[in-house]
Amino acid sequence: MSATDPIERVVLTHIQVPFKEPFRTSAGEVAIRDAIVVEVSTSSAVGLGEATPMPAGPAGHVGAAERCWDELARIIAPGLLGRTLGDIDDIAGLAGDWKTGACSVAGAETALWDLLGQARHASIAELLGATDLRIDQGVEAGLTVGLPSSIVELIQSIEAHLEAGYRRVKLKIRPGQDIELVRAVRQHCGDVPLAVDAGGAYSRGDLDVFRELDGHDLLMIEQPLPADDLDGLADLQNEINTPICLDETASGPEEVAAAIRRGAGRIVNLKIQRVGGLGPARAIHDLCYPAGVACCVGSMPELGIGQAHAIHLATLPNCKYPSDVVPSSRWFVDDYSSPLIDLAGPGIIEVPTRPGLGFHLDAAKLRRYQVRQEEFAIRIAG
Ligand SMILES: [Mg+2]
Repeated sequence: MSATDPIERVVLTHIQVPFKEPFRTSAGEVAIRDAIVVEVSTSSAVGLGEATPMPAGPAGHVGAAERCWDELARIIAPGLLGRTLGDIDDIAGLAGDWKTGACSVAGAETALWDLLGQARHASIAELLGATDLRIDQGVEAGLTVGLPSSIVELIQSIEAHLEAGYRRVKLKIRPGQDIELVRAVRQHCGDVPLAVDAGGAYSRGDLDVFRELDGHDLLMIEQPLPADDLDGLADLQNEINTPICLDETASGPEEVAAAIRRGAGRIVNLKIQRVGGLGPARAIHDLCYPAGVACCVGSMPELGIGQAHAIHLATLPNCKYPSDVVPSSRWFVDDYSSPLIDLAGPGIIEVPTRPGLGFHLDAAKLRRYQVRQEEFAIRIAG
């Protein structure tokens, strides 16, 4: 087993890329995607990761990006210099020491998987344990549509994208904007596989809404109730046939284990940024599998390098539903990965088989969207 060469250099680049249209969820609206690109270099390879701070409403996203930058620059990046990685446990050991927010961990942790994959001549999907068959099949892409300003806008947005062959449509919903959206989509788009995502915006008193949604043959209802209301989620799951998908609840392996014990849902949305990297995401996948709880891979949505890591994760055997990974052009005016994330066939995203992540940076694009950059390097004496 080959180990990586020592890490000699870490470069952090904060970029901002505009959304094509404001991304609206029950938590608020955001127009610009902040991301911190993490480049971890040895003498022979560069590992890439992306920290994608979750926007928490119009004012909140600025604070989240600042905090993430600070944690990466002050705590994580300096501690990587001089390190070597022999196996996945070395990554988990390092990441376990970073007492920071999950997305900062995810940015650096995923870059280390890329580096280790290159040293091992294995793709990240292979490192994670995916089979050749799943890697060859590619990843099914699901379309997500933010809260629309009108039903007409919603239907137009879905119809504009469906010809690309997306394998599922997921609607964001919130109280007062739910059943009529689902009815309209069923009426205009027929029996397309359909899911809704409530982002935890409802309460136990909204049972009638979920009973009504239950009659529309949905693939899943994502996070109907707040993240920590496991009893409410379990009671609701007993009342309806549609599987409940846990998203905000699924913040780490312990939280997911508790939710499964309680019967709070039948599907778990794996988000690399929320759980702090590929290692914890795989741990959640592995504990869901024997419990009969299926997984799907979610998105914040991330830019190119963040999504590229999600492609590899989505090849794991218990990822049984379409993922939120979509072409870069779905959400953003531009992207900085090379190649850009795109569909290889109707609704299918190809899984790279090159060692590591299999994606590179487009340096010109990175410069174009750069807000700031900082480099950490081992000083050579002399
Ligand atoms: Mg969600």
